[in-house]
Parts: sequence; C-alpha cells; structure tokens
Amino acid sequence: MEKKIGCYICTGCGIGEALDVAKLEKIAAKEQKIPVVKNHAFLCGDEGINLIRQDMEADGVNALVIVGCSPRVKTESFRLGVPMMDRVDVRDKCLWVLDVPEGDKDAKGNRQMMAEDYVRIGCVRVKKMNDPKPYEASTPFSKDVLVVGGGIAGLTAALEVARTGYNCLLVEKEESLGGKVAKMHKVSPAKPPYNKLEENPLPKLMADVKGNNRIRIMNNTVVQKTVGAPGLFDVTLKGGSGTSTERVGSIIVATGYNFYDPSKLDKHLGYQETPDVITSMEFEEMAKTGKIVRKSDGKPAKRVAFSLCAGQRDTKHLEYCSGACCVYSLKQALYVIENHPDASAYLIYQEMRTPGQMEDFYRKVQSEGGIFIKGDVKQVSAAGTGLTLEVDDKLLRQNIKMDVDLLVLATGMETTVDTVDPNSASPVGSQVDELPGSVLNLQYRQGPGLPSLKNNFPDSHFICFPYETRRTGIYVAGPARRPMGIASTRTDAAGAALKAIQVVESVARGAAVHPRAGDLSFPSFREEGCTQCKRCTEECPFGAINEDAKGNPLFNPTRCRRCGTCMGACPQKIISFANYSVDMIGSMLKEMEIPEADEEKPRILVFACENDAIPALDMVGRSRLGALSPFIRIIPLRCMGSMSLVWIADAMSKGYDGILLMGCRHGDNYQCHNVRGSALAEIRLSKVSETLDRLQLESDRVKMVEVNIMDAETLPQVINNFVAQISELDPNPYKEF
Ligand code: SF4
Ligand code: SF4
Repeated sequence: MEKKIGCYICTGCGIGEALDVAKLEKIAAKEQKIPVVKNHAFLCGDEGINLIRQDMEADGVNALVIVGCSPRVKTESFRLGVPMMDRVDVRDKCLWVLDVPEGDKDAKGNRQMMAEDYVRIGCVRVKKMNDPKPYEASTPFSKDVLVVGGGIAGLTAALEVARTGYNCLLVEKEESLGGKVAKMHKVSPAKPPYNKLEENPLPKLMADVKGNNRIRIMNNTVVQKTVGAPGLFDVTLKGGSGTSTERVGSIIVATGYNFYDPSKLDKHLGYQETPDVITSMEFEEMAKTGKIVRKSDGKPAKRVAFSLCAGQRDTKHLEYCSGACCVYSLKQALYVIENHPDASAYLIYQEMRTPGQMEDFYRKVQSEGGIFIKGDVKQVSAAGTGLTLEVDDKLLRQNIKMDVDLLVLATGMETTVDTVDPNSASPVGSQVDELPGSVLNLQYRQGPGLPSLKNNFPDSHFICFPYETRRTGIYVAGPARRPMGIASTRTDAAGAALKAIQVVESVARGAAVHPRAGDLSFPSFREEGCTQCKRCTEECPFGAINEDAKGNPLFNPTRCRRCGTCMGACPQKIISFANYSVDMIGSMLKEMEIPEADEEKPRILVFACENDAIPALDMVGRSRLGALSPFIRIIPLRCMGSMSLVWIADAMSKGYDGILLMGCRHGDNYQCHNVRGSALAEIRLSKVSETLDRLQLESDRVKMVEVNIMDAETLPQVINNFVAQISELDPNPYKEF
C-alpha cells in the first residue's frame, strides 16, 4: 500500500497565537511535500480527531504527522491505529520552554525557527518510516507458563497463572511440594490485626494447586536445558521416567533460597561446637514437633536466645540484610513464650527491622515479655547443662553474661539461581545438554544463567522492573530474586505470574514488552553486509542475539526489547527497524536549517533518551522550570544505546556547533531502562574524538550527561551551560560548506 502522509497542526494551547502556522503548513506542504496539510484549533477534541479520521477514510491518509503537544500527553486521543505516525512537540518542548518577551522580534523569530525545524524532522521521520509488521513464527506460539520450583513462591505463581485462565506446568525437583515453608510450625501475621501467629498457609495452597485442572505438576523433575525464546521456549525436563521436551511461552523461576552455610560462621558463635547452638530452620523444625528442648540433653529449653543478623550485614559473610529474619525471629520468640509460661526469649539484635504492619507484631512480642538486647554475641561457651553467652550490650555499654538453654542463629538467604556476569561481553557459558546446578541451563550465547544485579541475585532493575530478569520472558519470584519473607513472596509470585502472562500475550501479537510495550517493530539484519564482528551479539543487553559458528548473528525476535542497542553498535549499519534507523535519524538531523556563522545563532543538537530525559524535558515545560536556549534542537532516541557514531559525524559535517547526549543514569545504581544502553553509549562516545580529530574540531563540542527523571529542575542549567560553553568556541567551520 502506498504511503499517504497527512500533517495536522493544532493551533490550540496558544500555538496559533505564538507561531506562524501558515509558514509551518508551507514547510510541510511545499518543502516536505506532504500531500495533506491542515490545521485545527482543537486537534485532540472530537472535531479535530474526526477531521483526521475523515481524511483517513475518504482520502486514503495512512501516515500521520501530528504537530502540537508532547507525545506523552493525549495518547488516547491520538491512538488512531496508525503505526506510521510522529507527534511533533511544538508546545511542551518549544513554546513552554522558551522565553519570548512581548515585542521581542528576535526571540519570536528563534521560536518560530525551532518549531519549523521540528515540523521538518517530523515529516522526515514519517517519510522514512515503514509499517512495522508483527513477527510471526513458523510454529505456533505457546501461552503456557512453566513454573520451576514448588515452594510457596512457585505454588502461588502457578495458582495465579491458572486462575487467570492460562495453563501452567509446575516442576519440582523434590518428591513433594512445599519447599521450606512445609517445615514451618506457624507463620508471622499476614492479616489484621497483625499481632497473632497464623497457621501455615501451605496445606490449603497445595490443595488448591492440586485441585486446579489448569496446573500440571511434575515432581522429582529438573530442567535439563532451555532453548528458544518467549512464546517458543523448548524446555527439556529430566525426571524419574526419563526426559521430555515441553513448549512453553514464558518461565517463572521460583526455586527459593539456601540458608547461608552456618559452618562458615565465626567460631565464637559456637555452631558445630555445641549442639545447643542451632539455626532458625533447625529451631523451626523442632518447634513443629511441639517440643522446644535443649539438643544436648533433650530437657525443655526455657531460656532461648536469638542472635539476629548471624553472618549478615557483614562483609566477611553476607553483606546484605535478608529482610525477613527479624520478623522470623520474633515469631520464634513467641513460640518460646507460648510454650512455657515461665520461659524467656532474648532477641539480640543490631537493628530491629520490622517494616509495615510488622511493627505491630514487634510490639506484640514486646508486650508478651520478649527481652530485647541491642548488641552482638561475642562469645558462646558450653556451661554444663546449657550455654553462657557474652554479649556486648550497646545500650548498657558493657559486656554482659547470660545463661541460656539454646542459641538460635538467624542466618541469611542466598539465591538458588545460577547467575552470569552481566558485564561480560564474551560467552561465559558453554551450550551443553546438561549443566549440573543450573536452574534453566539457557542455551544462550551469553551463558546458561541469569544476569545478576548485586550479590548474585538475578534481579534486573532497581527502580522500574521488579520481577524481571534481563532475559525476556523469564521472571524470578520470591527469595530466589531477592531475600524476602513469606508475605512478600506471595505478592512477588503474583506479580511474576502477571508478567509471565503479559509476555505471552504480547508475543502472540508480535509486540514488545516494556519499556517499549506494544511496539511491533524489531530489528532486521542486512546479512550480506555483516562482517561477523560480534558487536551486536555482545552488546545486546537482553541476550536476544545468538551467533552461529562463524559469528553471524542469529536473531531471536521475541527476546528483543526493541532498544536499538544493536543498531547503534553495528559498525556496518546493517541493523534497522521499520520505524527507526540510522538513516532516519541521520536524515532528520540533516534536514534542520543551520544558520550562517555570522548570524550568531548556534545550533546544538540534543539526543535525548525517551525513557528519562524526554519526560524530564516535558516536566521543564509543563512546570515552567526555566527557559531553555532557543538554539537547541531535540531528537528523541529509543535508548542512548541506539546512538550511532555516524550521527555525530553527520551532525558535525552539517555544521551543528555542539552535541549534547542525554541518557539514563548508569553504573552501580543505574537506571538505564535497557540496562546497559547508556553505559555502552558512553563507551562508544569515548571513541568520538577520532571523528572530531579527523574533522579538526574540538572534543568539547560533544558531551554526554546522565539524566534522571528527577533532574527536571536542574536540566535548564545543564543545557544552557553547555550552550554557553559552545558559544565560547568559534562557530563550526563546516557551516560554510
Ligand atoms: S540490542 Fe535491543 S533491539 Fe537489538 S536485539 Fe537486543 S534487545 Fe533487540
Ligand atoms: S554488529 Fe553488525 S557487522 Fe557486527 S556481527 Fe552484528 S550485524 Fe554483523
């Protein structure tokens, strides 16, 4: 179908009064040769939208340039089912960020020039766009969900998946379901008034799972290997009766945690030195028998001490807090108190961490006689029929000695998931049929495990995407993802279930999941131009590209998040999207007008990431946080990772005086929505000096800054300072050519 573009300019919101709309129309119609160009005083209203619809129906308009407000507002109004569309923002990022005093002709002229440039690049963008066709696989997509792990996280996830109407395959390596919670006596409160021990929820949960005919359970089974991509995962399962392969659409890993090995704890805590020093889990199993006793002689244990943070928040052991052990120990203190009327429970803590309503539970244990000592256990010695503890009491500021029957160590949680180094560019795992200890044994060139964020936990993003891993369609729930207690685990598992469903539905439509949810485009590779440099396979943050023996990229479309990092990485420029390409952005920047050097109107190109920088810029305009220089021209990018060095060379050759790149924050506390995109852009940019040297231009002309959504208030200063710095330099000499 031939493309017919309509350009519609809204004159509402003060646009008509501020800008010469007739001139904008002329640019679209005459200069850009857009066949249908119209304006309307209220384009997002019913009448304005009907105007567009009528042209689509009667006049064959099938691609749109909508000139008006930011594409981040009025999204529903302009959701017209037209994939080839650009929204040109002359309001939020032009009118609302420029200071134009009444009667100041020069400022007015600058504003008009900015709007004209934005109309130009909007027209070019749509002219360069093709209709993205959703990816269809040669075999049908599966919407079934595999849950690995049959503990409380896996059972909850499986039930949520099934109750939402999807089939679930639940795989458990042990003979029976239940995991660690099956060994628990009672659980801490999960419902008001949050001050009573509750019965173990597991029996009911297991009965619900077993009674749900959408859930198929395979006990004594492990995943041997995982091949494929979302919608098309082929998982080889190994059980008592041999191996089988199942096709599933998405995967939830709910394999839980291992307790930190207590034999690694410091000797002074006495573990393995005396039987009366035990771990929380050992105490839990004892409590479940109904008898709390000294292990050494089987006599009732009436004085029980709990040492919290045993080997946690300690750089020699686990440097993090497991988040659940304080509440877990409070629960166990109540077991002691409720077991004997004259029993004593001592909680030796560093800080008592009882978030949310667990504060009520903490108070309950205080009111029931729990004895709280802020300090550390310094020494444990066996003393005849019990233990003597030496405790550094931080409030009394002295060492105290106490005799107890049992000491319970609250050890921390470690993930059970095998992880890979997310920053490693080379393949870190072999593709083998069976890799002992690997939860999924992914047959990805990036390795068999899941990338970790910190402390080996396969979490994905501090801020935006809980539940996610960096392998699309694979979600980790519960303490396998990060340390957490039972109540949080159940919420986490429900969240993962919804994510797992979301991805199979998106894949079936050929659409991306976040952050470009719904995007139908995906990269295509002009294979004949490939030099097998492997940059794309190494730099894809989501492991979407495998490679063959010769190093040719083997693309997995449904793993792709459409960030464009591969496009920015490819030195041959052979990777592009139907609606985003090196050529498109290059053509846009070349289309803008560059004033002559003597006009003293520098041009600064701003490449801004659509995830944080663009919303922050919108906030500058909407909240009138400050005026921006009229000499900037903003081009939004999908991710800074998609930035091609060709654009820098093109912009400098065109005569732009400076280039500012605004990407998400990266590093240890990164916020890049595509994990490594902005970090990779910075690495790429370090090579830009070669380009600038070749052009004999100063390296100060190109700068990258990290922008977080909360930086809106300081953004005008950042931009204007850069413009001022560029203005100090001579104009780019390439303007003359
Ligand atoms: S880099 Fe981004 S766009 Fe390219 S294949 Fe990977 S996820 Fe897809
Ligand atoms: S980056 Fe480009 S040239 Fe290099 S392997 Fe990938 S597609 Fe081929």
